Amino acid sequence: MDRALETLDAVGLPAALWDHQGRLLEGNRSLRARLGGRLPDTVAKLFTGADGPLDFPLAAGEFEVRLLNDPSGPVAALRVGYLEGYGVGVIHEVDDRARLQRELEAKTSELQEKVLELSRSKRAILNILEDLEDRSRELSRRKEELEVLNYDLQRFNRDLERANKELRSLDETKSNLLSNVSHELRTPLVAIKGYSDLMFRGKLGPVTEKQRLGLEVSLKSQDRLLDLINNLLDFSRIEIGRLELMREEFVLGDLVDEVLAALHPRAAERGVDLRILGRPEEIRLFADRTKIGQILTNLISNAIKFNRDDGRVEVTFESADHELAFSVRDTGIGIPPEHVGRIFDRFFQVDAGMSRRYGGTGLGLSIVKSLVELHGGSIQVVSEPDKGATFLIRLPRPLGPE
Ligand code: ADP
Repeated sequence: MDRALETLDAVGLPAALWDHQGRLLEGNRSLRARLGGRLPDTVAKLFTGADGPLDFPLAAGEFEVRLLNDPSGPVAALRVGYLEGYGVGVIHEVDDRARLQRELEAKTSELQEKVLELSRSKRAILNILEDLEDRSRELSRRKEELEVLNYDLQRFNRDLERANKELRSLDETKSNLLSNVSHELRTPLVAIKGYSDLMFRGKLGPVTEKQRLGLEVSLKSQDRLLDLINNLLDFSRIEIGRLELMREEFVLGDLVDEVLAALHPRAAERGVDLRILGRPEEIRLFADRTKIGQILTNLISNAIKFNRDDGRVEVTFESADHELAFSVRDTGIGIPPEHVGRIFDRFFQVDAGMSRRYGGTGLGLSIVKSLVELHGGSIQVVSEPDKGATFLIRLPRPLGPE
């Protein structure tokens, strides 16, 4: 029996021998090495079943067991046989192949999963790369288009600059022409008006009543023509920047009297009541007398022109340390709110039909604004349609000599 155990030992198989009561009689060296040198006294203390305790006495056959001193150790196959009433047990290390196989399979499928995922990611990355390439192609196409556009734009800009230069020079020619023509028209007109006036007043010999009436109508038209030409002349001078201030000291009241004397006939014709407030006769100014006169004439004649019959015009002066403020207020048709912002634009007229009836070029207010600004001042308008309009002018000092 001992020899059998040794033989098994020689091929590396742990083996044990027990009697019919399960007492362990012998264990070969391989077994003892597995047990750490100490052999227990019974078979029951040597093995436990892989799925629970073993029933003793053990029948002949094969069991899955673990060594009791190593319960978490590998599962072994215990082959049991009986010979002459002695039990012989031989332990084969169960090759953990099945478990390893299972683990391997699990790992393999995990790996496959990973590979699959990787290839999915790779595809996604490839897609993104493709997309990026598309975009990059699109971008370079756009860049080319932009370069072409840019080139066109530069050419267009050069053309525009050239056209602009031509326009500026044409504009200059126009302003010069306008200035010269207005000036040439004005000179004979002043002479015509002077002689008509003398005739009207009987200074060139007696005139009949009929001739006087004719001369009166003619003088009115000459006045309007002169206003128009003066406006065009000022406009062209403003255009070429040839309008300069000629400051002098004067009493405002005297200028206001002159302006009112010239405008009185127009006001009287429509029954418009002209009032002056704020005692201008006590205000001394150091400014361009002619231009201040033009400002007043333009604003007051508009206030008469766009008034209702028997309406009122109030011109109020207010002199303070740092500025002279004056307003021209009327009781006329007013200015619709949507047009207030454009009222000082050149050639702007709210109602061209009406202006045709009353005369006018749409230049008056733009000239007034330029003249006010030339004095360093500002002009504002407030208006309520059908109630009238108020123009407010502020002129800063020095309004007297330093
Ligand atoms: P115009 O020669 O036509 O009078 P202006 O530049 O003096 O030119 O005025 C421009 C327009 O502003 C006028 O045609 C008129 O429509 C409007 N306007 C000017 N003053 C008044 C006012 N006091 N009341 C109502 N509308 C006015």
